[in-house]
Amino acid sequence: MNPDVAKPAAGGGGVAVLALQGDFEAHRRALEEAGVESFEAKRPRDLDRADGLVIPGGESTTLWKFFEAEPWEEAFRAFAASGRPVLGTCAGAIVLAREVSNPAQRGLGLIDVSIERNAYGRQLDSFVSEVAAPALGGPLPAVFIRAPRIRKTGEGVEVLGRHGEEPVLVRQGNVVAATFHPELTPDRRLHRLLFGELARRQKRSA
Ligand code: GLN
Repeated sequence: MNPDVAKPAAGGGGVAVLALQGDFEAHRRALEEAGVESFEAKRPRDLDRADGLVIPGGESTTLWKFFEAEPWEEAFRAFAASGRPVLGTCAGAIVLAREVSNPAQRGLGLIDVSIERNAYGRQLDSFVSEVAAPALGGPLPAVFIRAPRIRKTGEGVEVLGRHGEEPVLVRQGNVVAATFHPELTPDRRLHRLLFGELARRQKRSA
């Protein structure tokens, strides 16, 4: 194969934070604290110049309305296939999943998990807890807001974090999904793990 064709497309502009809806500003602050440059992505073509992608929390049904109005789906697939890192948190994890329930809705299928929306019930609507994450060097503080639960993980999915026995932070290749909001705590390990290499590259070229 011609190596020029196999090379990941473009990039060079920092991490794109999807800014259609939800808490994208908190992710931009988190990236800044992790030393990673970012910008707001509002159109599918913005992903061309992105080195990484964050799909923030918010409301997954609303996100899908935006995705159906423009060729976002194609842009996400091409982006993930290029090998650049992708992080989806809460509603972002829901849109990345292969299967979505409660109620059923489409998933991009970029990570092989079945996920149930709003799965903690009314009484546990939102809560703060700790996630066991040995791969990140120890427990991670986590904010869960009308969070989904991962009900099934496929073979290619690595569990990076658990709440009790349940997987809440999962990875398949370059795609990472968290059912909680890592951007709402001061701990920046997750943003560093996923986008740290980009930060180091930006520093070297500065
Ligand atoms: N409950 C939302 C959904 O189903 C997700 C909540 C969140 O992102 N904090 O899409």
